[in-house]
Amino acid sequence: AKSDPDSGYRLYDPTIKDARAESRALEGALRSAHDNNEFELFYQPILDLATNRIWGCEALVRWKHPTKGMIPPLEFIPTAEESGLIGPIGDWILKEACSTAMTWSFPLKVAVNLSPMQFKRRDIFTSVKQALAASGLPASRLVLEITETVKLTEESTATLKRLKALGVSIALDDFGTGYASMSYLRSFPFDKIKIDQSFVRGMTGSPDSRAIVKATISLANDLRMSTTAEGVETEEQLDALRLAGASQAQGYFIAKPMSREAIAAFIADDRRA
Ligand code: C2E
Ligand code: CA
Ligand code: CA
Ligand code: CA
Repeated sequence: AKSDPDSGYRLYDPTIKDARAESRALEGALRSAHDNNEFELFYQPILDLATNRIWGCEALVRWKHPTKGMIPPLEFIPTAEESGLIGPIGDWILKEACSTAMTWSFPLKVAVNLSPMQFKRRDIFTSVKQALAASGLPASRLVLEITETVKLTEESTATLKRLKALGVSIALDDFGTGYASMSYLRSFPFDKIKIDQSFVRGMTGSPDSRAIVKATISLANDLRMSTTAEGVETEEQLDALRLAGASQAQGYFIAKPMSREAIAAFIADDRRA
C-alpha cells in the first residue's frame, strides 16, 4: 500500500483499511515520540488502609502527542510491544519513575508496570539496576508490577528472584482476570497481589464479588503477601475493602493519576496533614 510519508499515522483512523500499514505508521510515530521525549508518566497514589496515609504511587505512562493530545497506554503499548520499542521506552519509564520518586518529600514506594516483552527481549535485571543506580533510589522503594501474561519460565523466574534479591518488590497485577491465577501464585513468591478492579466494582452489589475479594485477601495473607485493591471509585467500596482487610487501596475515589508536579504536592500535603 502506498502512503504519504508526511500524513502521519492516525489512531483508529477508519479510512486506513490496511491494519498492517496502520500499525507500521503507529510504530514510526512511536519511534519519533521516543526520540522527541513525548512520553510522560502520571502517578496515582496508593492509600495504606492501616495508617490512612499514602503508601506509594503507581507510574502510568501517557503519550503527550503534539496534536492529538494525551493518548492512553492501551492505545500504544501493544504496538510498542510488537515492534520491540517497549525495550527503550520501558527503560525510560523505569529511569523516569525512579528519579521522580527521589524528588518526593517522603520516601514512598513507586510501582512500575513491566511488559512481558521486557522480560523476553531485554535484560530487565540490568535495566532495573541501571535505573536504581542512575537515580539513587533505594531498591526497597521500587515495586515492579507484572501480569500473568509474563510466562514464568525457569529463566524469567530466575530473573524475578534476582530482582527480589536486590531488594525490589514484585507485585502480581490484575489478579483474578487470567486463567492461571492459582498456578501463577504457586510459581513465584510475589510480595503483593493487586486485586483487579472488576472484583472491587462488584463488591458492594454482589455477595459473590465480595466473597472473591475476601478469599483473595485471606489467601494472600496465608502466602505472606500484601494486597492492593484497584479501581476504588466509591466510599462504600473503600469501606468494604477495609472490612475485608485489604492492605492498600487505589482508585479515583482516593485520587486520579496526576502529573509529576501534582503528585509531589499531593505527597507533601498528605504528610503535612
Ligand atoms: P493497570 O496496570 O491495571 O493500571 C490501572 C489502570 O486503571 C490505569 O489506567 C488507571 O488510570 C486506571 N484506574 C485507576 N483508578 C481507577 C478507577 O478508580 N476507576 C477506573 N475505571 N480506572 C482506574 P491507564 O493509565 O489507562 O493504564 C492502563 C493499562 O496500561 C495499565 O493497567 C497497564 O496494564 C498499562 N500501562 C500503563 N502504564 C504502563 C507502563 O508504564 N508500562 C507498561 N508496560 N504498561 C503500562
Ligand atoms: Ca498496574
Ligand atoms: Ca491492574
Ligand atoms: Ca489492567
